[in-house]
Amino acid sequence: MQDKHGHRISYLRVSITDRCNERCGYCMPAELQEWLPREGVLTYEEILRVIDIATQLGITKVRVTGGEPLTRRDVVPFLKKLCGIKALRDVGLSTNGTLLSRAVPGFRNTAEALFAAGIKTVNISLDTLDPSSYAAATGRDYFDRVIDGIDAARQAGFERIKINAVLMRGRSEEQLLPLVEFAHKNDLLLRFIELMPVSISDVLSESSFLPVAEARRGLEEVLGNLERREDFRTNGPASYFKVPGRDQLVGFIGAMTNPRFCESCNKLRLTCDGKLRPCLGSHLEFDLMKELRAGASDSEVIEFIERVVERKPMEHDFRENYQPGRKMIAIGG
Ligand code: SAM
Ligand code: SF4
Repeated sequence: MQDKHGHRISYLRVSITDRCNERCGYCMPAELQEWLPREGVLTYEEILRVIDIATQLGITKVRVTGGEPLTRRDVVPFLKKLCGIKALRDVGLSTNGTLLSRAVPGFRNTAEALFAAGIKTVNISLDTLDPSSYAAATGRDYFDRVIDGIDAARQAGFERIKINAVLMRGRSEEQLLPLVEFAHKNDLLLRFIELMPVSISDVLSESSFLPVAEARRGLEEVLGNLERREDFRTNGPASYFKVPGRDQLVGFIGAMTNPRFCESCNKLRLTCDGKLRPCLGSHLEFDLMKELRAGASDSEVIEFIERVVERKPMEHDFRENYQPGRKMIAIGG
């Protein structure tokens, strides 16, 4: 599948819930904490059907996200079915990590069960290594659980574990180096992400924005010149740099400041309430749930997806005085 701007679409990011056990201010501000009713969320069967159909259009990679995907009941059997879709080369999961070390029947912990289900890569969010700053950022005192979750993931045997750290001025500066060292010690691929205006929250002010270039310069003052590695790519838009003197790459996701950020976009997003979105940073969304529940055939779903791809914008609107319409937690980061 290719859109009119030359983006080749192979990646579907699927949010399976708007619920979460944490309360990150930049994602789910306190004033927006009502959940969708159960019937307003796509069933696992509906999600699997859409993904199965999407593979006929060239989707080969899926990342499951939320909200916190591990809070949804029966998520492991769902993921096992998802990983069983033959045309998918890669099924990953984005999680806050707090539930990875939780015991589940038949396995030592959830991380092991996910690995056994066929999940290859996990992205774990961790903005800070300071427990009190973690609690302030997420509204929950779960720092130790995340560290246990990362350990559980490391032992489970995933191909790759990425750590995503959102940059915020006043909080991130002193955490840059500790996070790099933590990632190095634990063999994790760390990425720093610019704050995006995706929720209606006072956390998202000019004064809290920290550009990736500034974060990189801060690290270079201590670590020496970080060398750009154009040849290293994962599925996303991160630019990777090598830390001198060691076998470590660090990624920077400059959604706001990198003017070429959207050039290689290969994604569509399916929200948990069944909207297909051609771009995270645009208000365009199309109600696929309505079609599914009205009895759309597979070929009608295919046409629907193709029409959404036709509407994919050249780039996101974040730099154009974008006014958030939905909280991030409802879209799925
Ligand atoms: N609950 C899971 C988690 O925290 O990883 C998955 C969903 S979360 C919405 C996915 C990613 O989006 C996380 O890495 C989170 O830090 C990021 N995110 C949320 N709000 C953001 C914002 N306003 N700007 C940039 N990244 C954001
Ligand atoms: Fe929950 Fe993840 Fe959003 Fe934080 S970033 S509120 S953990 S969904």
